[in-house]
Order: sequence, then structure tokens, then C-alpha cells
Amino acid sequence: PETAPLLTAQGVDAGYGTMQVLWGVDLEVRAGETVLLLGTNGAGKTTFLKSLVGLIEARHGHIRLGGADVTRMRSSERMRLGMTYMSELAVFPDLSIEENIRIGAQAIGHPSPNIDELYETFPVLRDKRRNPASSLSGGQRKMLGIAKALAAEPRLLVMDEPSAGLSPLFVKEVIRILSDLRGRGLALLIAEQNIGFLEVATRVFVLEGGRIRFSGTVAEMTDNEALRRAYFGLK
Ligand code: ATP
Repeated sequence: PETAPLLTAQGVDAGYGTMQVLWGVDLEVRAGETVLLLGTNGAGKTTFLKSLVGLIEARHGHIRLGGADVTRMRSSERMRLGMTYMSELAVFPDLSIEENIRIGAQAIGHPSPNIDELYETFPVLRDKRRNPASSLSGGQRKMLGIAKALAAEPRLLVMDEPSAGLSPLFVKEVIRILSDLRGRGLALLIAEQNIGFLEVATRVFVLEGGRIRFSGTVAEMTDNEALRRAYFGLK
């Protein structure tokens, strides 16, 4: 049975100064779904995610989260309603691992995040909890970024290019962790260029030139010859 959408974006326009980047973007994420937003460099993925989470303003259109119209709400209010954003630069390098996680929880005014549970998911972070985040490898930093985001106890985690800067081995590790989170019922919206993430996606949106060019299931995407050629380099 279809569940009500958790997040709905309808006709979103956004940009910078006189430059319009997004043109009437529609997108939906249902509870527990993993939605992949694909698009090449400059397609507008980051701009769109920022408008969803309230870091830039949607000039037109509406954003609804769990039944509430959040279009004019500030970012912190959207977080309290269950939507957490993980940018490409997700952690503070000078702060310790544990301080980073606590900051993630503070974002929703949570006094004591369930750090032990997070350390169970990411044991390497427990071992290094007093060290600065800058001492972590690229892959471990990404884990910390995810742990910090989870400390805010989101229903929906919005991620900008979790594969950025990672070796193929660590990309696999991130995909494994995301499929684990999906198994626990967390909804994910992931902007990526790396099609490896199709493995965890339940639905795909393709953004090109600030417009949604395709939305559908992974199977429907691979059935589409033009998209197959553009994203898989196949005929
Ligand atoms: P990438 O994978 O490189 O992050 P993207 O799909 O996320 O690409 P955006 O970062 O949203 O794309 O950029 C969309 C367009 O907006 C680009 O033309 C970019 O140059 C422009 N842009 C992005 N940020 C700003 C900004 N702060 N000021 C002005 N223009 C910007």
C-alpha cells in the first residue's frame, strides 16, 4: 500500500542573484524510501537540496514535509521536523569525533544523543572518539558525517554527494551503510553522479539543466535508452 509522501517539492524555482538555476522542480520522497537524484556537474543538485533544507530560498513552488508547509521555514525548524542535511563537507576538522556527533544532536536541541548506538554502527569512531576529525581518513570522515547527521534523529536524511572524494572501496562501504540505514526505515534522498548508488535506490530522479528530465524506478531508468547511454555509457 502507498504511504503518504514524507517530502514533496512542487514547482520549485531557485537561483543566485539574476541567475535562475532550478525551473519548476517536482520531487517526492515517501517514508522509508531511498531516492537517488542523479545529474552531471552543474545540473543544480546542490541548489535543489539546499532549497529543500532551507539553506537557500525557493523563489516559487512549495515544499512540504510530513504534512507541514515548510517553504518559508528556516533550516533549523525543518531539522526539528525530521529532515537533516549532510553536505559534502559534513564535519568540523578541528573538533573531536565526539564533539562533532554532539553538534549534530544539538541541531535539534537534543540533550543527549544515543552515542553508544551510533558507535555500534561505526565502531571505528568509538576507538578514535577523542581525536580531532582531521585525524580520520577520508572514508572515516564520511562515516563521521553520517553519524553526526544521524545524531539529529532524522526521518529523512538528505545527502549531497556522499561519494565525493572517496576511493571506490570506501564508496562501497558508504553504500553498504546506507542500505543498512534503509533497512532500519530511514528515508534517504541522495544527490550523486556515481551510479553505484542505484544499488540502494527505490526511485530515481534525473536533473538536467535545472529541470527534472526523468523520474521512475531503477528498472524504468535502465529501460530508457537515452538515459542508459548518458549514465551508463552503454548502447
Ligand atoms: P555539482 O555536482 O558540481 O555540485 P550540482 O548539480 O550540484 O553540481 P549546483 O552546485 O547546484 O549543481 O550548481 C548549479 C548552477 O548554479 C551552476 O551553474 C553553478 O555554477 C551555479 N551556482 C552554484 N552555487 C552558486 C552560488 N553560490 N552563486 C552563484 N552561482 C552558483
